[in-house]
Amino acid sequence: MHQYFVETCGTQPRLFVFNQLFKTESNLSFEHILSLFEKDYETIQKERFLEFWCINGDIIVNEEFWRFRENGKKSLNPSETETTYFDNPLGTDMCMENHKFWQQYYETVYEEQYQVFAFIFYEYYKHLHNSLEAKEPEIEEPAVNNQDIVDDFDQLELFGLPTAFGRAVTKKKKYLNRNANLHQIYSAFFSDDEESYINMDNVCVSETPAGNHINLDGKVKDNKPMYDIKEKCIEKKKKNRKLRNVPTFLLENKGMLKYWRKRFSLFSRYDDGIRLDCESWFSVTPEKIAVHLADRLSCDLIVDAFCGCGGNSIQFARTCKHVVAIDIDPIKINMAKHNAKIYGVTDKIDFIVGDFLQIGRSGRFRSDVVFLSPPWGGPKYKTKSDYDIERFLQPAGASQLMEIAKTFSENIVFYLPRNACIKQVVKLAGEGNRCEVEHNYLDSRLVAITAIYGENILKSPII
Ligand code: ADP
Repeated sequence: MHQYFVETCGTQPRLFVFNQLFKTESNLSFEHILSLFEKDYETIQKERFLEFWCINGDIIVNEEFWRFRENGKKSLNPSETETTYFDNPLGTDMCMENHKFWQQYYETVYEEQYQVFAFIFYEYYKHLHNSLEAKEPEIEEPAVNNQDIVDDFDQLELFGLPTAFGRAVTKKKKYLNRNANLHQIYSAFFSDDEESYINMDNVCVSETPAGNHINLDGKVKDNKPMYDIKEKCIEKKKKNRKLRNVPTFLLENKGMLKYWRKRFSLFSRYDDGIRLDCESWFSVTPEKIAVHLADRLSCDLIVDAFCGCGGNSIQFARTCKHVVAIDIDPIKINMAKHNAKIYGVTDKIDFIVGDFLQIGRSGRFRSDVVFLSPPWGGPKYKTKSDYDIERFLQPAGASQLMEIAKTFSENIVFYLPRNACIKQVVKLAGEGNRCEVEHNYLDSRLVAITAIYGENILKSPII
């Protein structure tokens, strides 16, 4: 079976982020967005690539260079003389030829990367198109019991847990608050095994995105890969026999080994002693995405409402003045503390063992941004073609989580499954408000969707 996909080196996949601003008024805005895309697809793609290249170009050119040198890969087929240029990158004898060679090398990498980007951008467009065309799930009985949770604020004090951080809220506010066509599995990115590529068949399309015709039905007219994207013949992989230091629960559970292989993309310092429990192996945000989100959400005080083993909190500590990391599970908090120590950021994080719903209901906490990466309902969530964020998110539906997050801040960010219903995600902004939806890709795999709410943190203009 032939399949086409984009892949950088296994441990450090490349991050691609595509964002789109939405305004909740009516479904007209969805049609409008899609028509803009279709009318001016090529221009949009080029603009997005230039943005991408401005940020990543130099890094990529460097990475490619070192890969060439270290692996001895002859991807550019340099001649013997050219190889000497690679051996002498700073060019102590920088002559015209050397200069010319470097220019050519740069151009080759640029072109290659443009093709790769165009391929993934097309995947993004297909996903956006399909999710905006899809019907919103029917509203059903709320899955979570909405009955008032008792005010446990006094109990928090009794346990000696912190009862306030950030700016104080006004009494009035406090009072009010107190009384108020992708079927890939989630783990596709983590998969090296053959099943995970099954749905990559349709990735091979005959039309270039640069052309005017956009083929959305995924039918392949001929068998040529788009833009020379690497073709890989899927063969049964040999079993990895080097399984030293693998946690036993990963060995015991079939299908979990793929997470182990990608450990460095979860935590680049994995080998320094990072601790993860079974659940965290598949729920932690991959480091490249966590780094990107931390750069995007840089502020004075951020709350990480479901911090788990600390993947996001650790990165927020790099870009924010202070982080409050909440998790209901004391074991997770211990792991997060330990992991933060490895990254040298413990002094910037306050760890709280507690229920986000109850802490939120106390209404005494304020922050600049609230980041929510709530439980998605375990790996089974991937079986749903259109993930209903009101029914399946835990410990409450998205609207309820939003309501509680608002007691902390107007600036709210949800990290959601990649099959989350985009229409619901947009609706969550509230009538007449805007929100930004980010698609986070690692190589060509859509890993998650990030939804950003709150005028102060929205950046992109409407296209
Ligand atoms: P996923 O379904 O994405 O794999 P997890 O099951 O890992 O997510 O959940 C994320 C984290 O949220 C876990 O560490 C869990 O302990 C924590 N969590 C669950 N419920 C609450 C809650 N009510 N308050 C705070 N943290 C919670």
